[in-house]
Amino acid sequence: MKTRRILILLTLLTALMITGFFIYSASQSQSYINNPEINVVVSIPPQAEFVEKIGGDKVKVTTMVPAGANPHIYEPLPQQLQALSQAELYAEVGSGIEFENVWMDKIKGINSKMLVINCSQGIKFIPNTEGDEESQYDTHVWVSPRNARIMVENTYQGLIQVDPANKEYYKSNKDKYLQELDKADKSIEKSLSGYENGKILVYHPAWGYFCRDYNLTQIAVEKNGKEPGPQGIAALISQAKRENIKIIFISPQYSRKNADTIASEIGGQVVLLDDLDRNYLQNLNKVAESFKITLNQQK
Ligand SMILES: [Zn+2]
Repeated sequence: MKTRRILILLTLLTALMITGFFIYSASQSQSYINNPEINVVVSIPPQAEFVEKIGGDKVKVTTMVPAGANPHIYEPLPQQLQALSQAELYAEVGSGIEFENVWMDKIKGINSKMLVINCSQGIKFIPNTEGDEESQYDTHVWVSPRNARIMVENTYQGLIQVDPANKEYYKSNKDKYLQELDKADKSIEKSLSGYENGKILVYHPAWGYFCRDYNLTQIAVEKNGKEPGPQGIAALISQAKRENIKIIFISPQYSRKNADTIASEIGGQVVLLDDLDRNYLQNLNKVAESFKITLNQQK
């Protein structure tokens, strides 16, 4: 009797151990799948698309300035700073944007082993004619697909430095994405040709590089990063009336109050357009189509 009981007990124990082993190994392989090898941190949402397009399933991207936040004033949360200790690569915008000016030293200090690359290396900056914030140059480099091309190339160079084993995989992904960017660039160029020096009225001057590349002129409501005074608003209203500008573009990070005032005075409308959209390529087409509407009204 006793031996039988011991036998049953042993069988049960063995069964438990086997089940346990399978559950354990399943959870291990699961966590392997959910834990890609390379942790990359970027500053702004469009860069997250760049990294994902190049890195595919071999990277995990973290964005410091999340969707809807303003990179001119954003402060990272303590848990965001903690997450940096897991990162192999930080891809800076590198255009002198305030978030990086203020936080990069601290970010580098948290993880000294992390490779930090400057995605704007090789980009020709344009002077800050509209007086956006405190920078000498326009910091919104990413809005032009031609600049995005350079940023993608720089990001790729960083990725193959931290993960040389997957160089071929990254290269073929990168080349594919560059082709898509080129295609978008050509199609925007074609679509916006014939509108040379047309005016784009925007609340926050984020579209300077896009306007430069497609021969448009950006007019900003904001001056020196500040809301305009009554005189500034009056001047914009008379210019808009004179030039038949009917649309004011505003990024979702900004208050619509002044834009709404101007729009009602000119019998026009306020249209949301996000320079920091996470779906970069898709947003480019939306930008071009939206700009074309306001340009057609000026003809
Ligand atoms: Zn901005």
